[in-house]
Parts: sequence; structure tokens; C-alpha cells
Amino acid sequence: MDDLFKKILSHSKEYGFVFQSSDIYDGLGAVYDYGQNGVELRKNLREYWWKAMVQLNEEIVGLDSAIFMHPTTWKASGHTDAFNDPLIDNKDSKKRYRADVLIEDQIEKYRLKAEKEVEKAAKRFGDSFDADLYRSTNPKVLENLQKAENLRKRFAQSAEAEDLKEMQQIILDEAIVCPVSGSKNWTEVRQFNLMFSTELGSVADGAMKLYLRPETAQGIFVNFLNVQKTGRMRLPFGIAQTGKAFRNEIVARQFIFRMREFEQMEMQYFVKPGTEIEWYEHWKAKRIQWHLSLGLSSSFYRYHDHDKLAHYANAAADIEFDFPFGFKELEGIHSRTDFDLKRHEEFSGKKMQYFDPELNESYVPFVVETSVGLDRLFLSVLSRSYDEETLEDGSQRTVLHLPAPLAPIKAAILPLVKKDGMPELARKIQKELSIHFNLQYDEKDAIGRRYRRQDAIGTPFCITIDPQSLEDGTITIRERDSMKQDRVDLNSIKERLLNECSMESMLLKL
Ligand code: ATP
Repeated sequence: MDDLFKKILSHSKEYGFVFQSSDIYDGLGAVYDYGQNGVELRKNLREYWWKAMVQLNEEIVGLDSAIFMHPTTWKASGHTDAFNDPLIDNKDSKKRYRADVLIEDQIEKYRLKAEKEVEKAAKRFGDSFDADLYRSTNPKVLENLQKAENLRKRFAQSAEAEDLKEMQQIILDEAIVCPVSGSKNWTEVRQFNLMFSTELGSVADGAMKLYLRPETAQGIFVNFLNVQKTGRMRLPFGIAQTGKAFRNEIVARQFIFRMREFEQMEMQYFVKPGTEIEWYEHWKAKRIQWHLSLGLSSSFYRYHDHDKLAHYANAAADIEFDFPFGFKELEGIHSRTDFDLKRHEEFSGKKMQYFDPELNESYVPFVVETSVGLDRLFLSVLSRSYDEETLEDGSQRTVLHLPAPLAPIKAAILPLVKKDGMPELARKIQKELSIHFNLQYDEKDAIGRRYRRQDAIGTPFCITIDPQSLEDGTITIRERDSMKQDRVDLNSIKERLLNECSMESMLLKL
């Protein structure tokens, strides 16, 4: 798995998908830039989400709210007071960690120890082995599972009570060491607010402290009535938005999985109070269906229902994805009650209510939200499309099996050789098709090497212009996954690409 992750990292860089930000200055932690192919894949993912949300649902409309918002927004939403992570520093390595992550890793260690015992026994006893029975009776397994459970309970209590002293004590009692220095020389645990702040106006004028938004959702909440009134929207209706969000993440080690500047794609669905659980179930099902329409194996996805809910939620689940480093959150679906709108009413003094013409009364709607990170989505698709294949002749190829509508380049235009009128015809074809598709023209190197270059960036089709093309107006079209080549009439390519590369085929699956 680790190996796959390393390969994805170097492939992303080598083929212009993702670069470390400010690379020439040795980079900036957990900040990334998208290169010439990455920007296209990311744009296509965003567009596919937008079409599925806004174009296919007449009751959902879009919004693009500003990154800067009035600072009271974040007081109302609770972010100023409570958007914190508990952090701890190791005095020897000077490395900073999330205390909760260190403890959760320790719990996982006990669980893994127990599982190792089970695996060892399974090898020893062979076919007759009953894993469940062993788990519930073997003293060593039971001891480790008990340790995990005790620690989980103790940690949950400290988190609930926001008892930072107790969290530090847990780290000391468990003799957790810093992975870098190997020492137990820890500072106290402190709360650390994840919002980035900046200032509006000059200091002399009495500048106003602003925050870079840590989520896009609040822009939707504060515009709820603007959109409802001007769009004459009736409940239930949704507002969708994509845009940058910023979090000063303490632990940011997993490439674009956890970034300090990232993009969210969120939809807030406003519903009549009392119907929210029904809508929550609806969106939970809809969103996993959307992910499955991307064509990756369904075994990569699972739900994780939250049993501990945030104070404002009455139901919440994550869609988790099997990233190269294990199952982790890809998207959150939350039933947020009327918490946010009520808080904005309270802090702004403005009514955030919907007049229900059927009931002839006004009330604050409830909200079901779907929230997915575009960068995590990008990583999920890239890492599970990546493949290294051994071909019949024994040679190797690296290929991205991206769905054609998402691929950065839809077709490569390749004159077989750089002479005899082939480049000219190829350029003519390129000019005509480039109105409809993102293409790449390539005349350098042997045709096989050119195919490999396109496979590596996931280009679904290669169009080769050879001497016969000049005689009878046919070309060969090579398909990426099967590597099958067909000779077809030049005039049929546009239709074929339109059929196979448009998002319609994917949208039809929804
Ligand atoms: P995590 O527990 O992984 O920190 P979260 O529960 O804080 O995530 P939410 O606040 O629910 O995340 O945000 C919604 C989505 O935004 C997440 O499912 C994820 O896809 C994305 N996201 C959140 N934080 C980051 C980040 N630092 N980098 C990239 N994507 C992120």
C-alpha cells in the first residue's frame, strides 16, 4: 500500500498532475499546485459534481459566495470558539502533533496487536480455525482488546469534557513516544484554532480581524433568504457551492488528502422540520450512487455512521474511501437541524425564516448537508485508476484508467511520421476537433512511446494518421484500456468522441 502511495506521488509530479507549492523554495507544507493535467482532471470532477447537483435537480441552485465573510459569521457558526484541535509538542524534535491523533494511534496499536495474535493462530491451526471464538477466548487477544477499549473510553471522556490535562496524562501514562525523536519529553496539551486570520484595512484605521473561511457552508447559510426570495424557491430546495476553504491543519502529511488550502463542494438542502431524517437517508444514498458512477470498484467505498454526534447534528455519516493508506473520510453527510440558521438569526438580529404557503406560517428550515473535498476526490480517482500492466510481449505500461469524460486529454493526434503530408493532415484534424475536445498533438518519438505517454495521463483515444489516411481518408483509433485499434473513416471520429467522452453517459447512471 505504501508502495502504491509513493508511486502516486511521483506519478503526479512527473506527469503534471500535482506539484508541491513554491517548489523552488523547498515547498510550503500541505499546500499544493495542480499542473497542466491535474487542473483538467480537477475541473472535470468539479463540473461532473455540479451537473449532477444543479443541472439534474431543478430544486437545487448554485452560489459563489466570497471567501472573506463578516467576522461575526464565525462567532455564530461556533468556529471562533470551538474549531479547535488539541495539540502537543515534543520538546526534543520540536515536532507538533494532534494529541487526539497520538491517542487514537495508540488505540489502533492495541487492536492491531490483537489482530496479529489472531492471524498467527490462524496460520497455526489451518482450516479448522474459528477466528471469532479465538477472539473471544484467547487471553492475549482479550487483554489487548480490553486495553484498546479502556483507552477509548478514557479518551472519549477527556474529549467530551475538553480536559486537556487528562489528555496529556493519557499520553504520559501510555508512554507514547514522538515518532521522530523517540522521546517522551512532551509539552502540555493546548487548544489550537484551525482558522487562518488576516486583517481588513490598515492597522492605523483600527483594522478588522477577518478569517479565511474554514468551510464554504456558512456562505450558503447567510445567503439562504437572498436565494430563496429571488429564486422563489419552495421547500425542499438546495443551494450548491464549490470553492476554496482554509484550515491550519497541524498534522498534514498525507499529500492532498489533508491540505491547508483545499476546495470543498457542498450542498445545503433546506427542508421542513420533521422531514430531515428522510432527506438525510435520501442524500446518503444519492451521494454514494454518484461516487459509484465514477466507475471504480464498489469495494473502495463504505459508510461510517457517526455514533458521537456534534451538538448541532441529529444524524451524520461519512462516505469513506479506501485510499492507498487505508479507509478514510471522503465526504460527509450531516443532518444539521436548524442550528446554523437559528444562530445567524440570533447574532444578526435578522429573521432567517421561510414562509410556508401551505401551512400559512413561518419557520426556520432544517438542513441536510453533503460536503465533499474536491482534492480528496481527485486523490481517490487518481490512486485507484493507476495501474501497472505487463503486456503480452513482456513489456510494462503505466496507465490511468480514468473514465473518458474525466480524462484531462480526450484524444491524442499522432502523425505516424513527420513527413509526406501526415503532419499537415493531422494538424487539420486537430483544428477541427479542438473546438469540441481537449486534444494533444504529438509527433516526437516512435508511435509506441507516444502511446505510453498518453496511457500515463489517461488519454482514452489515440488517433494515428498514416500514409493510407492521405489516400482514403481513414485513420486508426486506439482505445486506451483494450489497446485495440480500429481503422475508421475520418468523418466518424467526432461522433465517436462525443459519445464516449461526454458526461452524459455518466449522468445517465444517476
Ligand atoms: P477530517 O476529519 O478528515 O479532518 P472533517 O470531518 O474535518 O475531516 P469536514 O469538516 O466534514 O471534514 O469537511 C468536509 C469535507 O472536506 C471532508 O469530507 C473532506 O473531503 C474535505 N476536507 C476537510 N478538511 C480537508 C483538508 N484539510 N484537506 C482536504 N480536504 C479536506
